[in-house]
Amino acid sequence: MSHVFPRHTKASLPVAAKGDGCYIIDKSGKKYFDGSGGAAVSCLGHSDPDVTRAIKDQIDNIAFAHTGFFTTDPAEELADLLIGAAPGRLDRVYFVSGGSEAMEAALKLARQYFLEKGEPSRHRVIARRQSYHGNTLGALATGGNQWRREPFSPLMIETSHISPCFEYRGRREDETAYDYGQRVANELETEIERLGPENVMAFVAEPVVGATAGALPPVEGYFKRIREICDRYGVLLILDEVMCGMGRTGTLFACDQDGIAPDILCIAKGLGAGYQPIGAMLCTADIYQAIETGSGFFQHGHTYIGHPTACAAALAVFKKLTGGVAGRVMPMGDKLQAALTDAFGQHPHVGDIRGRGLFRGIEIVEDRASKAPFDPKRGVNKVLKKAAFEAGLICYPMGGTIDGVTGDHILLAPPFIMEDAHIGEITDKLATAFKAAF
Ligand code: PMP
Repeated sequence: MSHVFPRHTKASLPVAAKGDGCYIIDKSGKKYFDGSGGAAVSCLGHSDPDVTRAIKDQIDNIAFAHTGFFTTDPAEELADLLIGAAPGRLDRVYFVSGGSEAMEAALKLARQYFLEKGEPSRHRVIARRQSYHGNTLGALATGGNQWRREPFSPLMIETSHISPCFEYRGRREDETAYDYGQRVANELETEIERLGPENVMAFVAEPVVGATAGALPPVEGYFKRIREICDRYGVLLILDEVMCGMGRTGTLFACDQDGIAPDILCIAKGLGAGYQPIGAMLCTADIYQAIETGSGFFQHGHTYIGHPTACAAALAVFKKLTGGVAGRVMPMGDKLQAALTDAFGQHPHVGDIRGRGLFRGIEIVEDRASKAPFDPKRGVNKVLKKAAFEAGLICYPMGGTIDGVTGDHILLAPPFIMEDAHIGEITDKLATAFKAAF
């Protein structure tokens, strides 16, 4: 009998025994193409020799040193490289162990920034209904995913949620994509006015929405308007690139494609590519200086922040990404989108195929014309996940609720090292899954 506490107590899972490039091989020898990198994690696949060597070298020197006493070379070098590549005025990096921790650090830093600045009433967070920012209580409270929030709601801080930028579901026929983006962005201004600008601390958003909406990119101009509104009211813009960052959408940071920069940026998954658990929060010089000239101490911290082995792994990942691997994402992503559209664009139950780079989502509907989703009780996304898994393809399923509509979708986030031949493997195995599901 297993003593591991699993995600699903009734699930019986194969044992992952080996990683080989884009594949995971289980104990029975069955091979799975990792079409979602778990949850958009394994951007370099599963057996990168440079990353594993960097981890071994670091452990041979020193595996761990507490940040209360020491800094380390990999943490310093990685922070320099990240800031060299980061947009806008981002200037400092705070290393944590994952995405939720990065979000918690972001929220607490935003709060402390306003306390140091003498604006103690600023504490309210605004986010979007279609969003997920992590499973710890602060991050969970920030996200708009009802299914995840509801059971825990009395425990959580109060957050306002405005509409997401979800063109497929939200744009009216009489408006352009641009006008739609402006309309939903303007909801931020309305909400700030309603709460009183002196009470609002931050607006939080994923540039390309991952787990709750299947690789949902914003329309052009949306984030520019969001940035304007934040600037106008002195509200911090926190971008959650935990899933969509680190080259996943074709640029190192997803927001690069929207022509804006945040005040605080969170990254994780692709940062360590799964070789080590690591996340990071980046903040501007202004925010850092408010702490530096104020109390001089960010009142936060976890035992494993700035973990040297995790930083060494992420440093090796970063060098590989910027040394050429990230450059593969945009062209390969375009080919994947074309192949998915070719294979499933006319499928009676496919409503939308979308995304950026190697971050692609397929939204499943019962009826294409009305965009009506399937009854959530059918669990279509789970059926598809299972059928794809049996066919040897890992894809990430999700059923998200937005304004009363539950949509099923599957997310694809394959390794950046994938080759052209893998595209056919993905579409063939997905086709098998679709046949089994419908
Ligand atoms: N933010 C986003 C956008 C995510 O997709 C996730 C994880 N799916 C998180 C935060 C939380 O990250 P973690 O699971 O590493 O805590």
